[in-house]
Amino acid sequence: DNPIQKKPSWIRVRAPGSNPVYDETRGLMRKHGLTTVCEEAACPNIGECWSQRHATMMIMGEICTRACAFCNVTTGLPHKLDPDEPAHVAEAVAKLALKHVVITSVDRDDLPDGGAQHFADVIQAIRALAPETTIEILTPDFLRKPGALEVVVAARPDVFNHNIETVPRLYPGIRPGARYYQSIRLLDDAKRLDPSLFTKSGMMLGLGEEKMEVAQVMDDFRIADVDFLTLGQYLQPTVKHAAVKDFITPEQFADYGAMARAKGFLQVSASPLTRSSYHADRDFAELREA
Ligand code: SF4
Ligand code: SF4
Repeated sequence: DNPIQKKPSWIRVRAPGSNPVYDETRGLMRKHGLTTVCEEAACPNIGECWSQRHATMMIMGEICTRACAFCNVTTGLPHKLDPDEPAHVAEAVAKLALKHVVITSVDRDDLPDGGAQHFADVIQAIRALAPETTIEILTPDFLRKPGALEVVVAARPDVFNHNIETVPRLYPGIRPGARYYQSIRLLDDAKRLDPSLFTKSGMMLGLGEEKMEVAQVMDDFRIADVDFLTLGQYLQPTVKHAAVKDFITPEQFADYGAMARAKGFLQVSASPLTRSSYHADRDFAELREA
């Protein structure tokens, strides 16, 4: 087991507390039987996000076929897909009147298309019920699922997000089922298939990566034309998960952010509590207005 280290002063997580919008968001998720990453990943921003009607929904069940060393989602053989899920997600998005929604999923290596058609169905259902909502999808890597990416991109999400999570050297321990260059290639291919799509990726820092390695990942992203970058602190969910090697200071995050902007990303979010979907609603609105 890896004991959980005490968090530094700059990582302060506010408890959700009682707040009518937070309660309403929570109630709607329950009513529609929806799973959120906000809860599954025990995200430190849940109080802030849910109070502002921003949530990340997780589709295709709560059991994942992978076992990433940083992730709190259960590993195993997932259940069958729920054909009503696209309609339920779309109803919740419409009722919450979301400006921007982030949809993600567990990895479904068990399905022949990795769940690509289900993603497309969810996008289409949201478009039909909530045409004003912009849609960001955060997808698995579709490793050994030929044709899957094409199906997802053809459904025309506004933002295609796939997280690289860490530097290639740390992949065997941290993301054992994944391949670094497969993930880079996925982002590159998404952009080539539809150049009007915004692409996005992110990393967790504090797993023992070196600054030069982070810079190299940024360069790989730029070669793949990735538009948005998120960098946040890795926090260890339980003693069974990978240990935090370093707490990156806010100043170091600011340096990484400056480095990323200099490399030409359209949008960069780099701070200890940045998560892939943190402020995604606000950031995307700003970009559209710019
Ligand atoms: Fe949910 Fe993302 Fe906000 Fe965390 S940062 S609470 S996962 S929307
Ligand atoms: Fe968690 Fe995603 Fe890895 Fe599955 S693939 S274990 S959901 S990070």
